[in-house]
Amino acid sequence: MAKTIYENGEWVPAHTHHIVPKHAGGTDDPENLIDLSIPGHADAHEKLFEDYGIEFDRSASLMLRGLIKWANSIIPESPEQKKRKRVDKVNLWRQRTKDRIVESMGGKCVCCGYKKSNGALAFHHLDPAEKDGSISRMMRDASNWKTIVKELRKCVMLCANCHTEVHDGSRMIAETAARFDESYLDYKNMPGR
Ligand SMILES: [Zn+2]
Ligand SMILES: [Zn+2]
Repeated sequence: MAKTIYENGEWVPAHTHHIVPKHAGGTDDPENLIDLSIPGHADAHEKLFEDYGIEFDRSASLMLRGLIKWANSIIPESPEQKKRKRVDKVNLWRQRTKDRIVESMGGKCVCCGYKKSNGALAFHHLDPAEKDGSISRMMRDASNWKTIVKELRKCVMLCANCHTEVHDGSRMIAETAARFDESYLDYKNMPGR
């Protein structure tokens, strides 16, 4: 079992280091020994090179830095790091896709023109019988763009207030209301950018 020390909240590999170097008369007595993390060990030898100017210490610090670089390159990402990266990616996708959906649907509520917060804009199916799925569910599941577009074509975009009024019958949607803009069909092509 390799020696470890607790540093910055985690257990890391440790090296035993001579506080007073052997080349300066240091001994193997326990009080002259200290356990250091590998970066700490590299720092210690760099400091010794500055103090004594002995090539051994410079080589030691360079070798230790090389070892750190090499170790970082071979240590696989932890499951937590991988998960965090995946979550970040999905969140970024959601944000971009929501922006894209809003733009492709005319950028504002088709009834009142509201456009302040994307979060308050919803997608209303003109013919409820044609509804295969909800856009918000597709966003949550990170569905592919083509699937989302298929659904957007059946919708108009409304703010939360107008959406409620449309459903309780106190507001009508104009025949000319903006629909999905087909120039947004190709996900790679971002019109107006
Ligand atoms: Zn509205
Ligand atoms: Zn609706």
